Amino acid sequence: MSRLEIDWTRCDGHGLCAGLLPDGIAMDEWGFPVLRAGEITPGELPDARRAILACPALALRLTNR
Ligand code: SF4
Repeated sequence: MSRLEIDWTRCDGHGLCAGLLPDGIAMDEWGFPVLRAGEITPGELPDARRAILACPALALRLTNR
């Protein structure tokens, strides 16, 4: 099962990821992402990949743990 991970040393709180994957990522009050669920379903994978590619800080990645 795939999971999203955020590299907090890179994330600048741009917020693009939450807009592209609203079911998987929320924003906190400072604009930083909050992962809603640990696992990405197969149906969410295309949007998750779009969010990863759109992240200007290269802070998102998928893992298979
Ligand atoms: S798009 Fe990238 S830099 Fe912006 S909030 Fe999401 S993970 Fe952080």
